[in-house]
Amino acid sequence: MTPLATSICLFNTLTRQKEKFTPIDECQVRMYTCGPTVYDYAHIGNFRAFLFEDLLKRWLEYRGFTVTHVMNLTDVDDKTIKGSQKQQTPLRQYTEYYAKAFFEDATALNIKPASHYPRATEHIPEMVTLIKTLISKGYAYKGEDDSTYYAISKFKNYGQLSKIKIRNLKTGARVKVDEYAKEEAQDFALWKAWTTEDGDVCWETELGKGRPGWHIECSAMSMKYLGETFDIHCGGVDNMFPHHENEIAQSEAATGKRFVNYWLHNEHLLVEGKRMAKRYGNFYTLRDLLKMGHDPKAIRYLLLSTHYRQQFNFTFEGLEAAKGAIDRLTNLMRRLLDADGKSSKEKIDQLIAKVQTGFGEAMDDDLNISVALAALFDFVREINNLLDANALSKKEAKEVYTLMAGFDKVLGVIGEVKREETLPKEAAELISQREEARKAKDWKAADAIRQQLKAMGIVIEDTAQGVRWKIEKA
Ligand code: AMP
Ligand code: ZN
Repeated sequence: MTPLATSICLFNTLTRQKEKFTPIDECQVRMYTCGPTVYDYAHIGNFRAFLFEDLLKRWLEYRGFTVTHVMNLTDVDDKTIKGSQKQQTPLRQYTEYYAKAFFEDATALNIKPASHYPRATEHIPEMVTLIKTLISKGYAYKGEDDSTYYAISKFKNYGQLSKIKIRNLKTGARVKVDEYAKEEAQDFALWKAWTTEDGDVCWETELGKGRPGWHIECSAMSMKYLGETFDIHCGGVDNMFPHHENEIAQSEAATGKRFVNYWLHNEHLLVEGKRMAKRYGNFYTLRDLLKMGHDPKAIRYLLLSTHYRQQFNFTFEGLEAAKGAIDRLTNLMRRLLDADGKSSKEKIDQLIAKVQTGFGEAMDDDLNISVALAALFDFVREINNLLDANALSKKEAKEVYTLMAGFDKVLGVIGEVKREETLPKEAAELISQREEARKAKDWKAADAIRQQLKAMGIVIEDTAQGVRWKIEKA
C-alpha cells in the first residue's frame, strides 16, 4: 500500500484536534522526539514516552512511510552538572555511562533505534549560531548577569502550544533554571553565563564563557537534522510547557517559518494516582523490574497497551496480565507452526479481512491501541477455535502466521517463534519424570504429572515412538 492510500489521523496538541496526517514529503516522515536527560537510569515512565514514539514510528512504517527519526540526548543541563559534581566524575564520563545504559534498556524493550541521536555537547556551534540569529532579529538580549535571554514579549505567538494567555506572562522577569512551572512564564535563558557552580563545564564562545540552556538544544538539533519545518514532534505532556513552547518561540522567530506541523504528547504513567517521577521517588527503572524477573516484552506490552493520551497506573497485576496476553499470542504462533488440518478458506479470508480492517482503522485513529488489540485478540480466539477443530490447512496457517508477524512489526512483543523453543524447560523435566514413573509402573504418579502438564497447557500422548506433546491454546 502506498502511504497516500492511508488515512492516519493524529491528535495535534497545537489545535487540540484529531487531524488527518499529511507529511511534507509524500512518502517520508520527519520526526523529532525529546530524548532522555542522561543523568540517571531512565524510569519506566520515561519509557512510556519512548515506547509511544516507537509505536507511532512503527505504525507510520507499517503504512508505508519511511521515517527519519531524531532523538536528542540531553548531556548538559542543570541536572547532569549537579549529578557529575556529586559523583566527582567529569561530565562526559558521567553522561556517557547513563547514555549507554539508556541504549541497553531501549534495546531490551525492543525500541527501534532512531536515525540520529545528537548530543547537546556536540552541537554547541549550532546553538550559538541560532542564538546569534535571535539576537540580531531582536528576540534575545544579554541580561546584567551576562547570560543571554529570550524576550517572550517579542514573539507574538508565544503560548500557541500550551495556550497560556499573554496577560499571564510576567514579561521582563527572567528565569535561568531549565525547568519551571506554567505560572512562571518569563524570559528564559538561551545561554547561561558561567558561574562557579558550573565548575569546569563551560564553552568559550562569542556569547561569552558559559553553557547552553536546555531548550535551545532541541531547536538547533531538530532543525539541523530535519530542516526548518518538519512533520512531527513528540514528548511527554510535562514537556509541553515550557520546553516545547520555548522551542517553537526560538525556531519560528529565527526562521520566520512554521517549526512543526504535528505536536504529539503522551500522558503520564502513574503510581497510585501520582505521576511516576524521580522527584517523587515513586519510580521503577527497567533494571529494577528485570532484576525481579519480569519479562521485558511484558513491560513493553503493558506500557503500550493503554492509549497514549490516557494516564494509567503502573501495577504488578497489570504486568502479569500483560505477560498473559503475550503468552496467548506466542502460543498461537507456535500452534500455527504445527497446523496441518483441513481447509477453512472462506472463513479464514473473512477473519483476515476483519482483523486487518479492525486493527488498521483503530491504529489509524490516533493510535487507538486498545481497540486494535481487541480486534487482534478476537482474531486469535477464532483461529484457536479452528485449530482445536483441526480446521486450518498448512497453507492457511502460514498465511495467518505471516499476518500476525506483520502486526508484530508494529507491536514488537512476539519476536521470532521457533519450534524447538516450544517446550518450556519445566515441562521437559516433568515429561522425563513421568517417563521414570511409567518405567516404575507408578501409574498414579504418571497421571498426576500428566494433569500438571495439562494445567500448563501441554497435552501429551504416548505413542509407539515415545511421548508426543502438543501445546494447547492458552
Ligand atoms: P526526561 O529524561 O526527564 O527529559 O524525560 C524523557 C521523556 O519522558 C520526556 O518525553 C518526558 O515528558 C517523559 N516522561 C517523564 N515522566 C513520565 C511519566 N511518568 N510518564 C510518561 N512520560 C514521562
Ligand atoms: Zn526537547
